[in-house]
Amino acid sequence: MTGGEVTSSDAARDDTARGDTARGDTELDRLVSPLADADDRIIEGALRPKRLSEFIGQDRVREQLSLVLAGALGRGRVPDHVLLSGPPGLGKTTVAMIIAAELGKPLRITSGPAIERAGDLAAVLSTLSEGEVVFIDEIHRVARPAEEMLYLAMEDFRVDVVVGKGPGATAIPLDIAPFTLVGATTRAGLLPAPLRDRFGFTAYLDFYEPAELGVIVRRSAGLLGVELRDDGADEIAGRSRGTPRIANRLLRRVRDFAEVRGDGVITRAAARAALELYEVDDSGLDRLDRAVLTALTRRFGGGPVGLSTLAVAVGEEAETVEVVAEPFLVRCGLIVRTPRGRVATPAAWEHLGLAAPAPGSGPGSGPGGGTDGAATLFG
Ligand code: ADP
Repeated sequence: MTGGEVTSSDAARDDTARGDTARGDTELDRLVSPLADADDRIIEGALRPKRLSEFIGQDRVREQLSLVLAGALGRGRVPDHVLLSGPPGLGKTTVAMIIAAELGKPLRITSGPAIERAGDLAAVLSTLSEGEVVFIDEIHRVARPAEEMLYLAMEDFRVDVVVGKGPGATAIPLDIAPFTLVGATTRAGLLPAPLRDRFGFTAYLDFYEPAELGVIVRRSAGLLGVELRDDGADEIAGRSRGTPRIANRLLRRVRDFAEVRGDGVITRAAARAALELYEVDDSGLDRLDRAVLTALTRRFGGGPVGLSTLAVAVGEEAETVEVVAEPFLVRCGLIVRTPRGRVATPAAWEHLGLAAPAPGSGPGSGPGGGTDGAATLFG
């Protein structure tokens, strides 16, 4: 058995292990990326709420979870396995840590991509102490053979360890200590049904309201020793794309600005000036987002336009546009994805200060709109 490394928290926080590399460098370089970069990882440890009572927002999830945990503690049993789904940066890792803290048990952290073989998982599970919490980030990426081992472990607290190779191989059943699995996924749809069904409690973490993000940045400012005015907090919260990780990152950039160019106090004016400098607009859109909107409206008359054509127009990979920029633009109602391609909504025109064309007058209304060849760009 190998895989001492898979139990280390470094493995789980590593970009490769988290599967973030697919999004490319562009995503990690962005100030408004929901993914954690090296700086985030250093600072986040200090900013994470440690107990359920400190966790802001997600009221329903918090209440349900507190019942699950209190019930289990009352019965003296391990709680049901917990599945957390939702976009990056909304607090899944934080909730896993809180679960362990509330139960007073150690937490083992690993990630789907770090579990390449059944042996990697067996190494984790066979060394658990009673009641331990195991956090598997990006659980939809656990390798297939390990996934099957996970089913048995979750259900019967047992693993079959295969000894030997080929026809002589034998499976030795091994009892493991009762544990609670906390699985996190950004892609709940990719989770096989048998795995999903083995979680007794499933929670979907949703984007945060600006008011909740305001509370989060005020709390973070307190921990960082930064003087943050209420209007400054509101300004940062409004540009944070519903995501605590982004809110905390913007707070740090605004703090730098306020310290270097001002008196260190974060007012609305300081937050505005700083975020203008970093090209994060008042809806939280950055340069790439606006480039996509501008291409879609100005160049393609609002669409529909195919993804690869749009990507060429902004000088990015299609995947970058699809994974990095689009989800937020769609969520804000600025663009819609249609079978014929991407279409700008009236709100997109308005956001750019442009007049939307009258219905039926755009290029998308004629035949051939939305073709996905770069030729349409240069024709
Ligand atoms: P995920 O695992 O979903 O990517 P994390 O749990 O790592 O997200 O959260 C990212 C950061 O955002 C954390 O370090 C924490 O500081 C902050 N955060 C997330 N959710 C909350 C919350 N509800 N209250 C306060 N801070 C939060």
